[in-house]
Amino acid sequence: MHDSVLSHLRNTLHERLTRHGAHGEHGEHGEHGDVDQARGAGRLFAGDYSASATVGEEFADSRLGVGVMHDLDGEVISLHGTTWRVPVDGTPREVAPDEGVAFGVAAHGGREHEFVIPDGADVEGILAAIDAYLERTHVDHEEVVCAVEIDGEFSSVVLRTVAPPTHEHETLGEIIDDETRFTFDHWNGTLVGFRFPDVTDGQTIPGLHLHAISHDTTTGGHLRNATTVRTTARIWVDELHPIHDVAGTQPDGDSSMDFSRYEGPVT
Ligand SMILES: [Zn+2]
Repeated sequence: MHDSVLSHLRNTLHERLTRHGAHGEHGEHGEHGDVDQARGAGRLFAGDYSASATVGEEFADSRLGVGVMHDLDGEVISLHGTTWRVPVDGTPREVAPDEGVAFGVAAHGGREHEFVIPDGADVEGILAAIDAYLERTHVDHEEVVCAVEIDGEFSSVVLRTVAPPTHEHETLGEIIDDETRFTFDHWNGTLVGFRFPDVTDGQTIPGLHLHAISHDTTTGGHLRNATTVRTTARIWVDELHPIHDVAGTQPDGDSSMDFSRYEGPVT
């Protein structure tokens, strides 16, 4: 099972990494939407923070998206056509379409599913609610990519952002070891992101990956912890589709990467 998922991911990655001009194909999104990823996660974590796409190329017409700015100048969140970066001071700023992202994942089109996340759910509880919904609707969550939007009231929120590298060849892991965290006892806003397959060849970030923007757009970042108080949640279920990475094409996945250490909940 896992082997076939891995080879599926590898095949779609190969297709993505060897196709050119794939970002010109946006716009033909039917009921079956798609999820685009700019740059493999492996290259990002290895320290390539150059722009792999512009904000416009990656997020124009998207439903939602997450990413990180070129040169790690902030975590990126895109929602309903507006894209923000959250630099190291923690204050979201809108970004222009011609600015570059080092990494981005964007959801386009697709059919919307509403589902319920129980009040009092932490990040693991949110993931369990997504997976329970997928199981009930007979969609095999081990092979699909879900875009997720959770809006409402949360407690015990921990957001993080990253600072640009302080020396050459600093890996993303080293940088995240020094991540800046912002904690909120009570927080109102929207979480957006993706539930990717748990298996990865190092090119996709496995599991649940959420970024956050508050309703008043004064706080945001990559979500580390949160507990739902009262929320509404929607997902779009899709497979992963072509990547556009103008900066290079060599795959360099590292399946031993401990993504959860850097991207998962903090205890
Ligand atoms: Zn993130």
